[in-house]
Amino acid sequence: MTDEAAWLPLLQMALRVEQDIFVIRQRGREVAAVVGLEHQDQVRIATALSEVARDLLRTVGGADVSFHVDTGVDGRFHLHADLAPVSPLPDGRYQPQSGAVSRLVDTLSVTTVEGVTVVRMSRRVPASAPTPTPQRLAKFRTELGGTAPASALDELTVQNGQLIAALDEVRSQRDELAVLNEELAETNRGVLALYNQLTEELEETNRGVVALYAELDEKSAQLRAASESKSRFLANVSHELRAPVTAIIGLGRLLTDSASDPLTDEQGRQVDLIRSSAADLLNLVNELLDLAKAESGRIEPDVTDVDLRPVFGQLRGTLRAVATRPDVELVVEEPAAPALLRTDEVLLGQVLRNLLHNGLKFTEHGEVRLRAGQHGDRWQFEVSDTGPGIAPELQDRIFEEFYQVPGATRVGGTGLGLPYARRLVTLLGGTLELTSAPGQGSTFTVSLPAGRA
Ligand code: ADP
Repeated sequence: MTDEAAWLPLLQMALRVEQDIFVIRQRGREVAAVVGLEHQDQVRIATALSEVARDLLRTVGGADVSFHVDTGVDGRFHLHADLAPVSPLPDGRYQPQSGAVSRLVDTLSVTTVEGVTVVRMSRRVPASAPTPTPQRLAKFRTELGGTAPASALDELTVQNGQLIAALDEVRSQRDELAVLNEELAETNRGVLALYNQLTEELEETNRGVVALYAELDEKSAQLRAASESKSRFLANVSHELRAPVTAIIGLGRLLTDSASDPLTDEQGRQVDLIRSSAADLLNLVNELLDLAKAESGRIEPDVTDVDLRPVFGQLRGTLRAVATRPDVELVVEEPAAPALLRTDEVLLGQVLRNLLHNGLKFTEHGEVRLRAGQHGDRWQFEVSDTGPGIAPELQDRIFEEFYQVPGATRVGGTGLGLPYARRLVTLLGGTLELTSAPGQGSTFTVSLPAGRA
C-alpha cells in the first residue's frame, strides 16, 4: 500500500475532555467494525482505547487520536490506533494503569510516527476480512465521516450491553465447566465402582481357587488312604487264606495217597477236583499277595550287576515245561555278550517269566520269542508272540487289576499278572509297553536303565 491516500488516517479525533473518552471508544469500535475485525475484537480494541484515553487525559491533558491500516512485517493488514499526547509523556514512557489493557490488543507501545511520539495500539485484521484496498479505505473514510458520534449516554448503553453479553458468556462457560466437572466426577465414581467390583470378583475367585485346592488335597489324601487300606486288606486276606488253602491241598494229597484207605473212582475224581480248585485258589492268593506287597512299597529291589545269559537260560528251562503246545515254539534268543546291566535279577526274572507265560498261554500256533538288546543307556526286552493280539481300546485295560479280555479262550488266570509286572518294572525304574493288533500277535517291551554295569 504505497498509495499516498492509503496513509491518510481513516479517522481523526481530539481527546481533551472526559466526554471525548466515550466518543473515542464508540468511534474506535466503528472503525474496527468497518475494517472487518470480529465482534469480540471490536469490543477489545474499544475498551483498550477508552482505558488509554483516560490515562492520557489524566497524565498529559489529552491527545490527538487517529486510526490507520497498513501492512505489517508478517504481510497481513493491521489496524493501528495512535494517540499523540498533547504534552510530553512523563519520562517519554507510557504504562497503562491496568496491566490487562495490553492483553486486549496485539501490541501497545510508545513509538514515533513521522517524527511524532504516539502511544500506538495495533490489532491484526483477520484474513477473512475484505482486503483494504485504497479504494475501499477511501470508502471507509467517507462512511466514518458520515456517521455522527452518539452521545455519551448512548455509548454507555452500548457499553452496558457489551458488558452484559460478556458476563453472559462467562456465566455460560462457568455452567459448562460445572457440567463437565460433574460428568468427570460421575465417570470417576463409575471407574472406582468398577475397580472395586473387579477387586471383589478377583478376591472371590481367589477364595474359590484356594478352597478348590484344599478340597483337592483332601481328596488325594483320602485316595492315598483308600489305596493303602486296599493293599492292607489284600495282604491280610491273602495271608489268612494261604494257610487253609495249603491245608486243603495237603489233605487232598493225603486222601489220594496210596497209604490211605482206597477211594471209590467217584470219590477220587471229586478229591482231584478239590485239589485242582485249591491249587487255583492258592495261585490267586499268591498273586494277590505279591501285588499287595508291590503296591504297599514293601518290595525293595536288590540291585546287583546282572549277567543276562544265565537268567535267560533259566527262563528257557523253566518255561519249556509250560510250552506244551506242539504248534508253538518258545524261542529265547541268546543276548550278545557282554550282556550286563544293574538291576534286581529276581524281579526282572519274574516280569519276563510272566510275559512269556502269557504268550504261551494265549498263542495257539507259531512262536513266543524273547530277545534283548542295549540301546544307549537302556536295555530293551521284547516278548513277542503270534497269538490273537489285543484290540487297541483294550491295551490300557489289560494292565488294570482283574481285567481279562472278554471272550478270549478260557485258559485260566487271574487278571493280576500284567498289573503286577508293570509295578515291578516301575520299581526298577523302567517302563512296560504293549504294541499289538488283533490277529497279528502282541509285543510287550520292557525298557530298563542299564545302570553302571
Ligand atoms: P491273566 O493272564 O492271569 O489273565 P494278565 O494280567 O497277565 O492276567 O493278563 C490280562 C489279560 O490280558 C489276559 O486275561 C488276556 O486277556 C490279555 N493278555 C495278556 N497277555 C496276552 C497275550 N500275550 N496275548 C493276548 N492276550 C493277552
